[in-house]
Amino acid sequence: MQLSRPQPDLDIDYSEVKGKTYSCIDNCALCCLCQPELLPDEATRFRGNPVLAEGVAERHISPEVKGTAIKLKGAHGACHFLESRRCRIYDLRPHFCRLFPVNVFVGWRIQLLANLSCRGMGLPGSSLEDEARRIVARYGRADLCSQLELAKKVFTEFVRNCRDTGVAQSFSSVRNAADSLMDELTDEVGLSRILTFAEHGRTRLNASPVDIAKLVRRSDAVADIQERALMDGAELFDLPDLSLLPIYIDEKMVWEIFELKDKHIVGYVLNEDGTTEEFTRIDPNDVELMPIDEAGRSMLGEYLSTVNSRDCFLGHAAYLSDIDDYEFNFGQTYLGAIANNALDLWWRSSFIAKLNGREELGTKEIRNGIVFFDMDLLDLPTIGAFI
Ligand code: SF4
Ligand code: SF4
Repeated sequence: MQLSRPQPDLDIDYSEVKGKTYSCIDNCALCCLCQPELLPDEATRFRGNPVLAEGVAERHISPEVKGTAIKLKGAHGACHFLESRRCRIYDLRPHFCRLFPVNVFVGWRIQLLANLSCRGMGLPGSSLEDEARRIVARYGRADLCSQLELAKKVFTEFVRNCRDTGVAQSFSSVRNAADSLMDELTDEVGLSRILTFAEHGRTRLNASPVDIAKLVRRSDAVADIQERALMDGAELFDLPDLSLLPIYIDEKMVWEIFELKDKHIVGYVLNEDGTTEEFTRIDPNDVELMPIDEAGRSMLGEYLSTVNSRDCFLGHAAYLSDIDDYEFNFGQTYLGAIANNALDLWWRSSFIAKLNGREELGTKEIRNGIVFFDMDLLDLPTIGAFI
């Protein structure tokens, strides 16, 4: 009798979902504004059923997504199958709808992530880790192994390119450097130093995290953070199509989108059918980064630590290195990416707080900022893949 060789355990990281609970909020349906793609076998199943076939779109709103997806009502409203914020085909809904609020990223290992734009996150209810384990079991080992093998090749090639061009830094070293710079990442002068370093500094190969952090602290704080936040913030809403604008769900479960129009940020309530109603109009120059109180800063730091441990974010910095032709040391690129995202989140938190008549950011305002931001962070281009 031939004995089969024992298979090594798959490297799966559940640390982000561990200990978290969530509960789906009636009347939220934020997930149903993210156009779901259909896997090839689902596309066949949907096309073969007259009711489901009605909802199949020719292409996804995002030009980067190839393949079949479900239509959005009015081209930028909710999913075709949503009715009064309830799914009409709940038992038949596709794979991507079944994942929310968990994301599965495959890089050099498999990592389970919590989508922190979900307002149900942290409410008493189901264990997110149990849900994540159920999701992993549904894929089956063979599927996960083959996806992992493909993604590992991409990461290996990235590391080889970094070495060949002399810009390599170990992943753990850049993450440790970011962790040791958490105070700077949540502070105006600190952010300015990191961004100045990211744009002008140079790190020797294999510099330790301590050395990288020292280099950052020695950098001049030249980058004008308020100015940059304003430019990036306004740019965020300067998109040609309503379907591409970032979506915010407020505390009363109202869906909101914002568009840069006639030099103003115009806020609209988004209805299920894709119609919109203007509810505010703000001069972007009136939105400044607000001071953050101690508890808010601690929440912001905690969130940025989560971002720092996400493999998809590291894959995003790798993507940036690649499009920059490996011009900068990977440590610089990585710290620049995390600082830019910290600034984006701070600006979004300030923007929403301004809409709510606030002048300082505490935990509630930072939480609102995270709700507005995390879904977009998880959608950044990356190497590796969400499956
Ligand atoms: S975002 Fe969260 S609370 Fe809202 S519908 Fe999706 S899972 Fe439920
Ligand atoms: S199929 Fe159902 S669960 Fe999925 S996005 Fe559409 S309405 Fe929501």
